[in-house]
Amino acid sequence: MVLSIYENLAKETPKPRFTVGINDDVTHLSLPVGDWLDVLPQGTTECMFYGLGSDGTVGANKSAVKMIAMGTELYAQAYFEYDAKRLGPRGSMDCGAASPFCCSATRLACDPRKSGGVTISHLRFGPKPIHAPYNVRSANYLAVHKSSYVTSYDMTRYLKPNGVCVINCSWTPAELEQPPRSNYKAVSLAGSELLVFAVVHLPVKMRRDLAVKQAKLYVIDATQIAVKAGLGKRINMIMQSVFFKLSGVMPYEEAIEMLKPLAQQTAQVEELVKSIKKMYGKKGDAVVKMNIDGVDASVTGIVECPVPSSWASLDVEEESKGGSTQAKGPRTIVDLSSEQFAKQIQSHCNNLDGNALPVSTFVPGGRVPLGTSQYEKRGIAINVPTVDMDKCTQCNKCSLICPHAAVRPFLATTQELSKAPQEFRASSRAAIGGGVLDNFQYRIQVSPWDCTGCELCVRICPADALKLSPAGQ
Ligand code: SF4
Ligand code: SF4
Repeated sequence: MVLSIYENLAKETPKPRFTVGINDDVTHLSLPVGDWLDVLPQGTTECMFYGLGSDGTVGANKSAVKMIAMGTELYAQAYFEYDAKRLGPRGSMDCGAASPFCCSATRLACDPRKSGGVTISHLRFGPKPIHAPYNVRSANYLAVHKSSYVTSYDMTRYLKPNGVCVINCSWTPAELEQPPRSNYKAVSLAGSELLVFAVVHLPVKMRRDLAVKQAKLYVIDATQIAVKAGLGKRINMIMQSVFFKLSGVMPYEEAIEMLKPLAQQTAQVEELVKSIKKMYGKKGDAVVKMNIDGVDASVTGIVECPVPSSWASLDVEEESKGGSTQAKGPRTIVDLSSEQFAKQIQSHCNNLDGNALPVSTFVPGGRVPLGTSQYEKRGIAINVPTVDMDKCTQCNKCSLICPHAAVRPFLATTQELSKAPQEFRASSRAAIGGGVLDNFQYRIQVSPWDCTGCELCVRICPADALKLSPAGQ
């Protein structure tokens, strides 16, 4: 952006008034911005981490930066970016919750500012002082801590040639290129046509970027490792040790010694022990041990995946036209006339591309229509509830407590059921209550893409009919 200003000044007839950093197609005063310039000192390593708010990524990265800056000769810098969806004080339901039970009735611990949203950590390390008051846009190391992000965000555009990309997922290398396990057809939602593609593998754009940039690609099932180590959904220590193993920022053995708090051999380790204990509060030594188990298991769980050169010639345009059956992500395609906002603005913002929208896209006055959260499918849950309809007493408490209206009871006539998928039909039961309900079948249905995995429905179910299962299944 700075260069484009100097280029404008160097012209014979420079624009006397201009904007930079936006695409202003209304006044046409914006300056074109060229390719990203790398002006950092040689030897500087730049890293980006895409995390899930509350998975511990940001906290772990803060610890890593302190550890490297205090324990080595390297200089370090960090910026942290948060998705701003969950604003508002506790209890205000500005977090997007559809019912007040989540925070006011159950008193669950919740950070309404970023829990469940996307976080991006921008880290730089190098042998010389780093003066870069801006986010990383050319990363040597890219870590994707939530597998559904590969279809939501274009992350590999920020990867440097020969960079390293690591994805926390349960896929094998062979599965990365396989077609989606299932596709959903168009469904009618609030009067609009909505197409939701249930997708689990690398999209065409990402594969092409990886091949063109001759990147190294790794996968690790950090979620499973965390579960086995008793860490629940906290994958931060595991992904941190993966970072030290693959990034080359400092010798791995050195880093891992500093990471293992119980070793307590050096002053830096003691500092880290304090930081981990501070991070996990009163849970103390048991949690520290679980983290160490996770650190030990993480390196053996890293799998290098081949990046075939044929990926470099994949047709990204074809995918964006919707003509391909390859992975497309949780996209929404809505009727333009009824939901212009969701298509023209919201979908780009959801993909973290909102800053690139031209000025003409926006409505003067900045008005935003209501009821648009139905078009966003975030897919952030690690585990989602499944229902045993033989145990269900049809009390509807799960539906009442769900903060995101992601679990709902359905009543269906025989005629409606005949058009429903086989799985839905097989699990429906005769509605309880008598009278008019005798004509209906009943079924509890969860929407996995809307569920956040908060577990509230499982806890409130009086019949033990709900249990959590991995979302990937
Ligand atoms: S686990 Fe999912 S379906 Fe259950 S209450 Fe939480 S968000 Fe709703
Ligand atoms: S809370 Fe349990 S028993 Fe009640 S409707 Fe939901 S699944 Fe069925």
